[in-house]
Amino acid sequence: MTDNTTKTNLLGMSPEQLDAFFAEQGEKRFRATQVLKWMHQHGADSFDEMTNISKVLRDKLSKVAEVREPEVVTQDISKDGTRKWVIRIDGGSCVETVLIPEGDRATLCISSQAGCSLDCSFCSTGKQGFNRNLSAAEIIGQLRIAIKSFGPMDPAGPRRVTNVVLMGMGEPLMNFDNVVKAIILMMEDNAYGLSTRRVTLSTAGVVPAIDKLREVTDVSLAISLHAPNDELRDVLVPINKRYPIKELFAACHRYLEDLNDRRVITIEYTLMSGINDQVVHAKELGKLLKTLPCKLNLIPFNPFPNSGYERPSEAAIKAFKDIMLKAGVLTTVRRTRGDEIDAACGQLVGQVEDKTRRSQKYIPVVQESTAEVVKSL
Ligand code: SAH
Repeated sequence: MTDNTTKTNLLGMSPEQLDAFFAEQGEKRFRATQVLKWMHQHGADSFDEMTNISKVLRDKLSKVAEVREPEVVTQDISKDGTRKWVIRIDGGSCVETVLIPEGDRATLCISSQAGCSLDCSFCSTGKQGFNRNLSAAEIIGQLRIAIKSFGPMDPAGPRRVTNVVLMGMGEPLMNFDNVVKAIILMMEDNAYGLSTRRVTLSTAGVVPAIDKLREVTDVSLAISLHAPNDELRDVLVPINKRYPIKELFAACHRYLEDLNDRRVITIEYTLMSGINDQVVHAKELGKLLKTLPCKLNLIPFNPFPNSGYERPSEAAIKAFKDIMLKAGVLTTVRRTRGDEIDAACGQLVGQVEDKTRRSQKYIPVVQESTAEVVKSL
């Protein structure tokens, strides 16, 4: 039983699961809270570090359990302070995590899957195909790794990560259970203690999962919209064919109704030159967004090799933003960060062992034609 593979990894367990684990071991419940704090507030990697637990119990735990976070392959720090980690998960694929400091905030962008099954036409993660869902330990492990990069974890010290966004690789709502477990740990007082406003889950619009989400958490919600109508969205975000904009917005309304505060949905809209950045798109988007309490985040397209898409000019971005503001939509433009370490949205490439064989099919000519189809709409 001392073999690593047979030990239970406690890192991704929710507080309830940890309680149950200690109950099974015939131990008191407060032990679970102690271990939770050691793992997530002090960054302990072994039971030996947990000094308020008896040696006997520590030895017993070491035989059956472990605290194991995924392996860091590389850490890069950009001139603007952005940090990026390449993280290897069991099975060999790699995912990426990015920390973006801005004033007194530091936002961590976390991955939830190795690759992605949704195949949005302008996203480099989608082009790599899909390998597997990350475990809860692999998701929460990214937060621990980021905090630890500043030195030993200290719950009394300054907060190194103030906000978390599930906007890295993967579609979080396609990995529902593990993502929810990790979110619960992010918000749990005995773990990371982040408020609901400081944790945001971004989805391309898996409608039934949005409804399930509001039953179990009140995390803030972002929607990757990218088009003002179904015709265009069907091409850019193929899951729209299953769950069109009207159904998606209805789910957003239901989600907001359940939050008992004045939070709104964040709408993400990646601007691509000649595709969705024209005056007519802006006007249509303005009308559409008046139907939902939301704020708009415009993301100028981040190029990657052979994407077939281009970033609009600064003038076009500003013109689009001005139309949105005139329409009364609270609009911001996401500044690109960490450019020299390829840490921007849609540039997270990781290293996915594609099980769908989609990456083999990805040749530039296919992509060009997607852009052509969109232009002809
Ligand atoms: N699957 C989830 C989480 C990924 S979030 C979702 O779709 O919301 C990553 C965000 O960056 C999404 O809004 C995505 O559409 C956007 N994005 C993807 N590729 C991009 C690119 N090349 N340039 C700019 N934004 C991109």
